[in-house]
Amino acid sequence: MLNIGCHLSTTKGYAHMGREASSIGANTFAFFTRNPRGGNAKAIDPDDAAVLRNHLETEGFAPLVAHAPYTLNPCSTKPRACEFAREAMADDLVRMEAFPGNYYNFHPGSHVGQGVETGIELIAETLNAVLDPNQSTTVLLETMAGKGSEVGSRFEELQAIIERVDLSDHLGVCLDTCHVHDAGYDIVNDLDGVLGEFDRIIGLERLKAVHINDSKNALGSHKDRHERIGQGSIGIDAFARIVRHPALRALPFILETPNELDGYAEEIRLLRELSSK
Ligand code: FE
Ligand code: FE
Ligand code: ZN
Repeated sequence: MLNIGCHLSTTKGYAHMGREASSIGANTFAFFTRNPRGGNAKAIDPDDAAVLRNHLETEGFAPLVAHAPYTLNPCSTKPRACEFAREAMADDLVRMEAFPGNYYNFHPGSHVGQGVETGIELIAETLNAVLDPNQSTTVLLETMAGKGSEVGSRFEELQAIIERVDLSDHLGVCLDTCHVHDAGYDIVNDLDGVLGEFDRIIGLERLKAVHINDSKNALGSHKDRHERIGQGSIGIDAFARIVRHPALRALPFILETPNELDGYAEEIRLLRELSSK
């Protein structure tokens, strides 16, 4: 069975997210570990967390893919922003232990003119500062579209970060289909070629999750505008190949398409159907 879900809001608590996921046919989901644009994190209610843990176990959920706030930039030119990235990630990783054994995905960062080499160094420094040998969470670097000065739009850049991290056993990669497409990887006409390149440069054993989004823009546009499944430049046939691909089909798939809950339920149903054909 395809492991699929979407991004859910934490506003009604953790247990509620589990029930909401099940109600739309999902068996995984994503959520922001704190306000995606600000920095405040509400303490996790242990009873609420326990109800979600129980739900995940009894319903046989695949690993969840939590998302770090967008504002987190470990390679900013502003020392306060780099400090926030460190504090927020370290704190999120402690909080993630309320739900052991899941994934924590983050955007590697934007080097804002310092150059990609410096960006890679600063991101690796942050990971070296926050990873704990005893954590049960795997931290995922997300593949980026290469908008502005984003680091991580090339597989080589992600690998360069991973190589500089001491506790790299706790690292993996989340492949965002909109982002890799916008970065110039042709997953529409050459999915095998792209995954082969991922394997040669990073290693497919690092690939832990997929953000499954169509794209409003053309291959290599470096734009990062998500579209509903089948309504963008990636298209439904490519998604059928993606959810059936032997290197991908067992991973958690997370929808980040412009939708409300009923739209997500429909995309989940569609992708489950495509995966089982
Ligand atoms: Fe993301
Ligand atoms: Fe994404
Ligand atoms: Zn995106």
